[in-house]
This record gives sequence, structure tokens and C-alpha cells, in this order.
Amino acid sequence: MLEMKIIIGEFRQESNSFNPVTEKWEDFFRCGIYEGKQMEEALKGEPCAVNGMFQAVEEAGGTYVPAVSMNGDSGGIVDQEVVKVFLDKTLAVLDKEMPVDGVFLSLHGATQTVEWEDGCGEILSRIREKAGERAVIAASCDLHANVTELMWKSADFICGYHTYPHVDFYETGYRAARLGIQAIQGKKLAMVRSELPMIVPASSYTTLRGSFAELMEKGDWMVNQGRITDYSIFQMQPWLDVSCGGSAILTIGEEPKEAEECARCLAEQLWEIRHSFRSSLLSVSEICRIAQKNQSGKPVILVDSSDSTNAGACGDSAVVLREILAEGGNLKTAFYLNDPALVEDAFRAGVGAEKEFVVGGSVSGKRGLSATVTAVVRSLHDGRFHREGPAGKGMLCNVGTTAVLSVGAVDLVVCQAIAAPGDPQLYRHFGIEPGEYQLVVVKACTSYRASYEGMAAGIYEADTAGAAAVNLDKLMFRRLPKTFFPFTNQELGPVLCSVNCD
Ligand SMILES: [Zn+2]
Repeated sequence: MLEMKIIIGEFRQESNSFNPVTEKWEDFFRCGIYEGKQMEEALKGEPCAVNGMFQAVEEAGGTYVPAVSMNGDSGGIVDQEVVKVFLDKTLAVLDKEMPVDGVFLSLHGATQTVEWEDGCGEILSRIREKAGERAVIAASCDLHANVTELMWKSADFICGYHTYPHVDFYETGYRAARLGIQAIQGKKLAMVRSELPMIVPASSYTTLRGSFAELMEKGDWMVNQGRITDYSIFQMQPWLDVSCGGSAILTIGEEPKEAEECARCLAEQLWEIRHSFRSSLLSVSEICRIAQKNQSGKPVILVDSSDSTNAGACGDSAVVLREILAEGGNLKTAFYLNDPALVEDAFRAGVGAEKEFVVGGSVSGKRGLSATVTAVVRSLHDGRFHREGPAGKGMLCNVGTTAVLSVGAVDLVVCQAIAAPGDPQLYRHFGIEPGEYQLVVVKACTSYRASYEGMAAGIYEADTAGAAAVNLDKLMFRRLPKTFFPFTNQELGPVLCSVNCD
């Protein structure tokens, strides 16, 4: 058995360029930062990419050195100091352990920092510079990554999740590490990249069914046939305003020509089905009217994914609330939002107090997102609850001190920091049973479906503006090229890049 020494590290954050709040050190600290032995203790045995890498190296009889793991919530672009800390620590471990056979990294792939549009490309290229050309660099990424040319050139292998909703973190880390190990053992593998000038709303596809699931099946089939060793299909999350971005296909195989052919085939199919990635959107007042007429006894769900914290928005918009109140405010409605300033106001006023409150806009600092209402403080909470699932069932959630307010027939859950926006416990824990409401507002992209589909009379996506808008025309792209689908008729199609092979 070949002896090998591998450095393993992690830096994951999905950046939303339209969120005005920079993600800081404290935000990463809250989600967990682990170094060295501590990283192994925290992640060994967990269903995560890093553990998949640990496992693969162990199985191959190699030695791994855990460097540092840093995770942040989806949110605004990352403070430069945060990524500097990650790189300084990782490069210091590399310095100490050199020479190493490989560096395996768990990344998100769509991370923007204050100074770098392509955070993951910059991370990979700096690690390549230090580790040298002989070290094998393998990375796992989110399906929503923006796999740039710099990432592709700096890493030997990149593997993306095959599932959306994502459930294959461990498997993806394992795949990336296995490819890295095979290369260290002397196998020649080429990685081909095809880029597509397109972005599509994240809520318009899934790997559970439909045209995107069929595309994944085709990739699996190519692997099962032995034509290629691995494939990934990346649909860049569309809230990233960068000058180099878009969807991408990666194929990895022993035969460069075959890998190229498979990449071309997958890219052409993704391009062909681009028009199928559409969501039908309704205005808030149309959805209110559906809820008024609904006699089923079940609630109508209004989805405002443009303000989803899972997609990196602030979750502090009261625009939909304002529109619901403008409809007359007589619909029995459940609504939640982030508003630390309002939580403080409500705690100062105390349970039972009735007064004028400003709701919304306190996280993003955008007054235009707020509504001024007369409300009664119903209850006050510490904001800790266990998730109902199915995703993350039983996991502890902390949304910070929380207040429940009533504005006429509308009940508001006001949190300091929303977590698990698609989990009904975000209402139930605070005494609001979604099933008893006519209209329930959910700020999430896809995560809510498993929980809400069974109890709802209907689920309707609202055509709202916000940092994570489904209607991409509502986003103010400044850097993304104007030759992109769906913004132009001047559509260019897939571009096959040359093979990355030595
Ligand atoms: Zn994702």
C-alpha cells in the first residue's frame, strides 16, 4: 500500500451579492470553526463532505491531517478578514506538513468576498501555489457552485452534489477524495469543463423529478457504462452578481476524448432544457384572493422565497405583510420575519401592550421594506426549538429571542435570526398552528415543500422583489454579462473548455 499524507480543510458559505450585509467572523463562529484535532472530533462520523474525505483516506491506508473547518450561513458577501484567517491557517498547516501528496477541500463554490468575486478560485489557486504542482488537489462543492476557470485550473478534481434538495454531502466528499487518491496512486484522469451562459431560479428544478433529474440520470448512466469516472452538473445559484459565472458541467475520466464527448452531451442537454426551468408566479393580491375563496379548511401557502435566509437574503422584509394588510387584513394570516430591533421593542413593551410598531427592514437597513402597524404583543420567547423535519428532524434551532405580535387577523413571529425557514416549528413552537390559518407565509425556496405540501390547500409562489428573487428580472445585475440566458435573445450556447490533464 502506498503511503500518503493528505491535508483536509473546509470553507463553506453561499454568498448572495444582493444582500447588503457583509458576513463577518462572528457569523462563522456561530456556525462552527474547528481546527486540527478538534475538527476531527467534531466532524468524524457526521453526514458531511469532510467525513467522506476522512473515510476515503483511511480506507486507502493513508494519513490525513485536519487543518481547519469554517462554515458560514448563506448570506451577504464575506468579510475579507474571514477568508484571510482560513487561508493563513491552512497554508501554515501545509508549510509544516510539506511535502504532502494531496489537499482535499470541502468548499461551497459560490463564495464572494469583499475583494474577490471568485472566492473559491482564489482559495484553490493559493493552495496550489503553496502545495506545488505534484500535490493532488480535490474539492467537493455545492450543486449551486460557480465553477470558474480558475477553480478548474487550480484543482485536479472537483465534484458537485448530485442531489437537490442536497442530501449527499458525505458521498460527494468521498467521491472527490477517491479521485484524488487514485491520482496519487498513479492513475491518469482528465477533468473536462463545459460552461453555459445561463442562470435559472433555484426553485424551478429538483433532482427528485423532471428534466433536471433526467439529466442527472444520464450522467449516472455514463459512469455506470464506464465511459467516465465522475460527472457534476452545476447550476450556479442565481443571486451571484459576478463577471465570470454561470452553469457548468465537469466530467472526469481516463480517456480525455470520451470525457470531452460526455461533457458536450450533458451540456447540450442542459442547454436544451433551459426553458423548462420556470416558476409560475402570482401577485400577493392574487394569492390573497385564492385564500379568501378557499373553503377546504386547509391553509393556502404564500411563498416569498425572495426573502429566504437559506438563499442568503436578510429575511427582514415586511413588503408582503404590507400588501396583505392592504387587502383588508381580514385574512387569518401567519407571517414571520427577522427584526432584532422590533424584538427589543416588544420586550420593552411587554406582553399585552398595544402600540404602534415599525416592522421590517432592521437587518438590511432598508426602510422601504418596513410597515408601520398597531400591534398587540402576545408572547415572548427565548427562541430555541427542535426541528420537526423531515429535513434536520430533531436538530436544535436557535432563532434568538422572539416575540409574537398580532395585527388584526395577522399573527407575526418576529425573530432575531431565522433558521430552518421551511420548518413548521418556526410557527408551531410559538403557539401558531399553521393548519388553523387561511394564509401562511413561508420565506424559503424548496426546503418547505416536504413539510407543507401535505397540510396545504395550495402552494403559490409570490412574484416579489428581494435579494433572492425568483423573477431574475427583478435583480439589479451589474457585473454578470448581458449575453446570459434568460436576459437576452442573443443566446450563445455551451462552450467546451480544453482538457485539464498532464
Ligand atoms: Zn445548494
